[in-house]
Amino acid sequence: QQDWEARFRLPHLTDIFPDAPPIPSTFCLKMRTSIDRDFPGHYSSYEDWHGYINNNDRVLLKTIYYSSPTSAGAECIDPDCTWVEQWVHRAGPREKIYYKPEEVKAAIITCGGLCPGLNDVIRQIVITLEIYGVKNIVGIPFGYRGFSDKELTEVPLSRKVVQNIHLSGGSLLGVSRGGPAVSDIVDSLEERGINMLFVLGGNGTHAGANAIHHECCKRRLKVSVIGVPKTIDNDILLMDKTFGFDTAVEEAQRAINSAYIEAHSAYHGIGVVKLMGRSSGFIAMQASLSSGQVDICLIPEVPFNFHGPHGVLSHLKFLLETKGSAVVCVAEGAGQNLLQKTNATDASGNVVLGDIGVYIQQEYRKTKQYSVNIQIEFEANFHPIKKYFKEIGIHADVKYIDPTYMIRAIRANASDGILCTVLGQNAVHGAFAGYSGITVGLCNTHYAYFPIPEVISHPRLVDPNSRMWHRCLTSTGQPDFI
Ligand code: ATP
Ligand code: MG
Repeated sequence: QQDWEARFRLPHLTDIFPDAPPIPSTFCLKMRTSIDRDFPGHYSSYEDWHGYINNNDRVLLKTIYYSSPTSAGAECIDPDCTWVEQWVHRAGPREKIYYKPEEVKAAIITCGGLCPGLNDVIRQIVITLEIYGVKNIVGIPFGYRGFSDKELTEVPLSRKVVQNIHLSGGSLLGVSRGGPAVSDIVDSLEERGINMLFVLGGNGTHAGANAIHHECCKRRLKVSVIGVPKTIDNDILLMDKTFGFDTAVEEAQRAINSAYIEAHSAYHGIGVVKLMGRSSGFIAMQASLSSGQVDICLIPEVPFNFHGPHGVLSHLKFLLETKGSAVVCVAEGAGQNLLQKTNATDASGNVVLGDIGVYIQQEYRKTKQYSVNIQIEFEANFHPIKKYFKEIGIHADVKYIDPTYMIRAIRANASDGILCTVLGQNAVHGAFAGYSGITVGLCNTHYAYFPIPEVISHPRLVDPNSRMWHRCLTSTGQPDFI
């Protein structure tokens, strides 16, 4: 239990600057007096507001009591299934804050790939900062790169600038991978006088944010670095879900529906939909569950054979013979065991994984037609769907749909819009509270702060023994492909 407390203790700037006095929050004050100020009048109804969160308020992380290891399955955290209370810190505005709003220069940055809801979060961070009374708010363009590239200048942000940005997808500030060394980023923070940095990004971005926080501590800089997890794949540990995921699942369903209609309208039609999910198959699993039109769902966490009597291809044959058509939903990182490994990395240093969708859609061509590249090995061992059916003399009409870039670029749906709004507000509350090196997320339907290392130690994965994956299998009716 103590170990748990220590691990989830939030880094606070008073750890480094113990003599810095906390000051009364302006947040509630601004809300109450807003009618006299430049904020909308509806806030003024909060005459006697009791919404402040105590630093010791907690959210329970594990909410199920398992009475035996068998009922717990893979969820059980120890062999005897002892129930251990695990608490994380509740997010929200504090009565005492660490910064005088007039002394704050806040910066927002978006890194990694696109994800629905980025603009919603940017918008809400700006609006909440203004409610605290911050006047100096900037956006750093094109991710961490914006700190080093002299041609990229800060974007001044205000409620007026961000008012309608959530109506479109993408990021107002732009995104990128790669960028300068952490020490250069902190040099740039010092030069610019930034003392609040809001970092929207995935695992890589959060690793960067944590490193920036430590570098600031080392240099004894009073800077709050706050993360907001942006991962369409939903692969951040301990959180119910991350923003953009719901929207992605909803949009993925549309692609699955198109694949279904294509497959259903063709003689022996097979629709293949490739979805996001490099290491985590949450989108493919949830979209398959919600659409109810998928016959085979393939995710990175669950190995499968393509060939042989129990492989995907023979099940497809069975589906064509019995149902007349079939829909396959595959996460991009699925079947890595079948693909040739490369040593290639992207600008951020991530290993470039093989993309199963690319290979599934390709017509079989003799390996000799290829020069030296990874496809030789792969195609020698791997028979795409069309080749298989040609060889066994069964007609099959394969249609391949890759909606991934369309999904990433759309605007957030209603539930993600709410999630983004509350995450944005809580990011600002966390910074004003004096925390740094933390991130904010939804935990058992409550909003909580987490120390960054606890949520990025590895990607969150679909557990093949979990009830959710078994629900998915029940829904598709697919066998084990092993
Ligand atoms: P996505 O979910 O889209 O992959 P991500 O945040 O994981 O988002 P990356 O491209 O991996 O995206 O990383 C984004 C930024 O974080 C890059 O600018 C990269 O240089 C930086 N970064 C990644 N890993 C680290 C690390 N360990 N330390 C410092 N910076 C890092
Ligand atoms: Mg990443």
